[in-house]
Amino acid sequence: MSTPCIITVAITGSVPKKSDNPAVPISVTEQIESTHEAFEAGAALVHLHVRNEDGSTSADPKRFMEVQAGIRRHCPGMIVQFSTGGRSSSGDARGAMLDGRPDMASLATGSVNFPTIVYENSPALIEALAGRMRTFGIKPEIEVFDFAMLFNADRYVRNGVLDGPLHVQFVLGVKNALPARRDILEYQVSLLRELQPTATWVAAGIGRHQIEVNRWSLELGGHLRTGLEDNVRLDKHTLAPSNAALVARAADLAREHGRHPATPTEARSILKLGDPPAATA
Ligand code: ZN
Repeated sequence: MSTPCIITVAITGSVPKKSDNPAVPISVTEQIESTHEAFEAGAALVHLHVRNEDGSTSADPKRFMEVQAGIRRHCPGMIVQFSTGGRSSSGDARGAMLDGRPDMASLATGSVNFPTIVYENSPALIEALAGRMRTFGIKPEIEVFDFAMLFNADRYVRNGVLDGPLHVQFVLGVKNALPARRDILEYQVSLLRELQPTATWVAAGIGRHQIEVNRWSLELGGHLRTGLEDNVRLDKHTLAPSNAALVARAADLAREHGRHPATPTEARSILKLGDPPAATA
């Protein structure tokens, strides 16, 4: 039996538009259907942003709840992770959807420049979001865009703001943040092993770096993230037809490396998550 590899699908994000790729799911129905196809293709975890009907970014808790309810109905056991990213709201509103009790939520443990904005995460906001996640029994996924964020996460475990074992995502290839270089990922992984030996990790490569970062992750023993949020193309000349197509490609790559796409049960066990909540109508 090969080692399971958790495939995360980031279906929408806050940046890509229908004009970039018509397959980017925007409406609640599209998001549920796209997640379901990705689930059937091997994704065990969905990373979720929501949009308004016109495609603009939203942090509306009601919208998060509608999509989550559909996913729980159609994708038994799949891990649901809400984004608390800063493009759709600011300050405390970034955690307003957490009372919807997803399994996980993203948590960036520091600030960084993005292509056109500052991704601002003050110490007070990080601690408030972490506290809210603890209140609702949500496991954070630590988003690391910069080395300081990794050391901050380690300190937050040691001073009791966060609970271990951590699940960390290394993001590579965002303009103005860390570039997609294998030696950077290698160093991040070695630091994580030293600081938080029980942590699990995944890496995301943005745009054309998606597939090479997937490959490095498998070579270094990590999990996989793919999806239209990070990359809307299959290759230079071809738009990805769906999130499922990107997941299928990641699943093939995992098998080539002697791994298999984790089932939701396997993924929950690896991430030390509880049983999935019952689906509600
Ligand atoms: Zn995201």
